[in-house]
Amino acid sequence: MNGYRDLRVALLGCGSVGAQVARLILDHGDELAARIGANLQLTGIAVRDIDAPRDVELPRELFTTDAEQLVLGADVVVELMGGIEPARSLILRAIEGGADVVTANKALIAAHGPELSEAAEQVGAQLSYEAAVAGAIPIIRPLRESLAGDHVTRVLGIVNGSTNYILDRMDRFGDSAEDAMRVAAELGYLEADPTLDVEGYDAAQKATILARIAFHTEVPVDSVYREGITRVTLAQVEAAKHAGYVIKLLAIAERLTAADGTEGVSARVYPALISRDHPLAAVHGGKNAVFVEAEAAGELMFYGAGAGGVETASAVLGDLVSAARRHVVGGPGIPGSAHADLPILPIGEVTTSYQIMLEVRDEAGVLATIAGILAQHGVSASSVEQSVPEGSRGTASLVIGTHRAREADLAATVEELRDSEAVTAVTSVLRLEGNS
Ligand code: NAP
Repeated sequence: MNGYRDLRVALLGCGSVGAQVARLILDHGDELAARIGANLQLTGIAVRDIDAPRDVELPRELFTTDAEQLVLGADVVVELMGGIEPARSLILRAIEGGADVVTANKALIAAHGPELSEAAEQVGAQLSYEAAVAGAIPIIRPLRESLAGDHVTRVLGIVNGSTNYILDRMDRFGDSAEDAMRVAAELGYLEADPTLDVEGYDAAQKATILARIAFHTEVPVDSVYREGITRVTLAQVEAAKHAGYVIKLLAIAERLTAADGTEGVSARVYPALISRDHPLAAVHGGKNAVFVEAEAAGELMFYGAGAGGVETASAVLGDLVSAARRHVVGGPGIPGSAHADLPILPIGEVTTSYQIMLEVRDEAGVLATIAGILAQHGVSASSVEQSVPEGSRGTASLVIGTHRAREADLAATVEELRDSEAVTAVTSVLRLEGNS
């Protein structure tokens, strides 16, 4: 008996993350109690199948299949089931009952975060989701609290470990895309259906959450422009390397000024070139990192494990301790903030540079034609490299780097290049990110 009061914690889900959260609560009870000033009393763990094998041995009497009953009377509900329903309804029910909620559920927060935040705000409860973006890496709290007095201008994240693992293998070991995917699947980096990862949906959910917090604006997940990594080839990776770049799947949230002067927010996901000197280029294997640019703080990078049961459990426990402390000292939770209410700008308004790879006719006047097409759209080249690959019959390869320009102008330039008689093929178009 330590004289502290008990706080009732209901755990929903006991999979990779939930089992580790339960273990940490039970193993570190005394230490956590001393930090919080209250005992975390795990009142139950809701699962689908009580007899399913678990990663961690836990008291059988804690398990229940009645999640609805479990959330009633809890002080803090920790949701680690995943998916939209029944997670959403259970969280709303928990909030109605006055509980604080901790979740790692990126799909739910991306789709219903504002609804859940509002419900929490109405009753003064706290909704926390540090683990929903980049697993163990503290990024939600730094954006929400540490940088609350600054003006964030851009967030660039490598927030999907599976795709980073695949691209990193292609870059470092020269694997083809198919081989890298196969190894990633063998090592458990990919789900049975890898679409969520390789098509960028998972990263888009995280881009929504990051953009929302960084810019105090509602950013619906379907407003995030998205391209996955399925069209990235080894030839592109090697050409990038040759030019001093590496290709990374980036989740980007940026404050922008549109051509008509409108201030807005862009949220987007695509594979992009990053200079090998940029800190994000050093993020290898399945690791995650989030690079934040803010007016006063300058550049910050948050790096670490973006997934894994015990790693993610660390972020969940951080939120749980913080929610529990609030119960001890009282006062309302930190509300979600969408006061800036900036418009979401379409991809055409984004300003980036491109690297365009072309196969062109090896004839006089071709370079002038191409320069003319660029100029017509107000795009200027920063570099042009021409080579005539061995065995090519009357064609040459061109790699054109452009200065920053509006995406709409760059896209129109590429369209016209595709139609040009001088060009036999546009073999690659990649955006360059991380430069100013
Ligand atoms: P998981 O291994 O699939 O475990 C899900 C757990 O929830 C299981 O114990 C399952 O019960 C239970 N569950 C599912 N539906 C339920 C329902 N309708 N009623 C009661 N219990 C239900 O998932 P996870 O990998 O731990 O992920 C949990 C959450 O954390 C997800 O939102 C995920 O996106 C997020 N997250 C995970 C990671 C990671 O590295 N794994 C990283 C960051 C965030 P049974 O065991 O009986 O099937």
